Amino acid sequence: MNSKYDVNEMYDRHAEGELHLPSLLTHLGERSLYDAVSQCSRCGYCETVCPTYMLTGREPISARGRNQLVRMSMEGRLGGAAAAAGEALDTCLLCGACSEACFAKVPTADIVLEGRRAALGPAPRLIPSLLSRLMLDRPGLFGFLLRLGALARLTGLPRLAGKLGLFRMLGLAPLEKAEREAPRMPFTFLAGKLSADPELAAAPGGPAPAWAYFAPCGPNYLFTAVGEATVALLKRFLGKGLFFHNNCCGLLAYNYGDIRHAREFARRNIKKYEELKEKHGELKVIGDCSSCTAFMKTYEQLFTAEPEWRARAAAFAAAVRDAIEAVPSTAMTHAPREALAGAGRITYHDSCRACHGQGIRKEPREALRTLAGKNFVELPESDWCCGGAGAYSFTQPEMSERILRRKTANIASVRADTVAVGGTSCLLQINAGLKRDYPRAKAVHYTQLLERLTRPTAK
Ligand code: SF4
Ligand code: SF4
Repeated sequence: MNSKYDVNEMYDRHAEGELHLPSLLTHLGERSLYDAVSQCSRCGYCETVCPTYMLTGREPISARGRNQLVRMSMEGRLGGAAAAAGEALDTCLLCGACSEACFAKVPTADIVLEGRRAALGPAPRLIPSLLSRLMLDRPGLFGFLLRLGALARLTGLPRLAGKLGLFRMLGLAPLEKAEREAPRMPFTFLAGKLSADPELAAAPGGPAPAWAYFAPCGPNYLFTAVGEATVALLKRFLGKGLFFHNNCCGLLAYNYGDIRHAREFARRNIKKYEELKEKHGELKVIGDCSSCTAFMKTYEQLFTAEPEWRARAAAFAAAVRDAIEAVPSTAMTHAPREALAGAGRITYHDSCRACHGQGIRKEPREALRTLAGKNFVELPESDWCCGGAGAYSFTQPEMSERILRRKTANIASVRADTVAVGGTSCLLQINAGLKRDYPRAKAVHYTQLLERLTRPTAK
């Protein structure tokens, strides 16, 4: 059976570095895609941590199955399995749980993304590519269009269109879901607010900034309160800081087949960092969406064929920190009783790109345990993906829904009231699930919770 995934020529395309990663930086060293996928020994050790496999029991949608299908495709042996390969690549959450469990740390998520890019060929997906171009060249227009969308939403027309089934008729079902679940978009984006904050400007003769806040798209365009809480927290615990005045990190482009734009975003952010470093000396670049910080920490992999940019990307990556690791847990003390009363029983969900992508598990737990004492409870399967995974809940709604139900059942099992998370996609997804399955609880971003629990009380 032929399909867009019958990509026997994938290996040739992989060599076209402009559209692909020329090599992968694996745990065992720099490898071609073929060598990286060949590292999979088919042991199956990762099967029990792969959410799509555990929910379905179907081998093609396990990490082992995905690696084998990509390998077969590269060897021109896909034959009748082309449709299975398509499903395998499309349904991967890119959560990285498999790689963490794998003894050889086979980078299955990167392999899946290369498979998707090969299937797409030279033309990246239209919408992510257009959005990237707008964000890069016309950020003002991009913001204007978002505001226009927010205004249209206020009229109630999109909701009506959803009820009448118009989105589905036009093949835009993901927009219907977005209309239903996304919070109201602010009219003033975070970047506008932070640009006007005098405390985030460098003062001549003043203290050298220790950090620069990078505003990921989630906090910038949707959850501005998250970014404001992060900045307040960083000021409180890390002293003088700046606003990075950034573009997107490039993850949207990277995940949706548009590696050229991903590289362009990366180059701009690297240059910006170098300018700041030149002016102010060493500083950390801190972002508050784990998907974005995890991606920025791997910028080097985008430039393995460009030695100069590779070194610059590695230096930038070394300066990146996730907000959930940036504030030291040792600086915490037990939170005031009134602050804790508002939060109730607190638990922590490991965002995939925090735990599997960056290895961050200890710091946020220690901080919450110190702050909340007995009010902190561990969440069963805390590092199991919530099904949000960027736009996965919109592109794979059925699988996403099954994964989400498992997450909300786990939250209910420990009778939690507040679920701290480090990613904005988790925030959206878990709150949508809790509203329906367990309305007593609410997900909040980790920095918002920490900001509340460490806020100085009036004496
Ligand atoms: S990805 Fe790793 S753990 Fe999974 S089957 Fe392959 S070698 Fe084994
Ligand atoms: S990245 Fe996640 S969903 Fe994809 S194969 Fe690995 S564990 Fe499974």
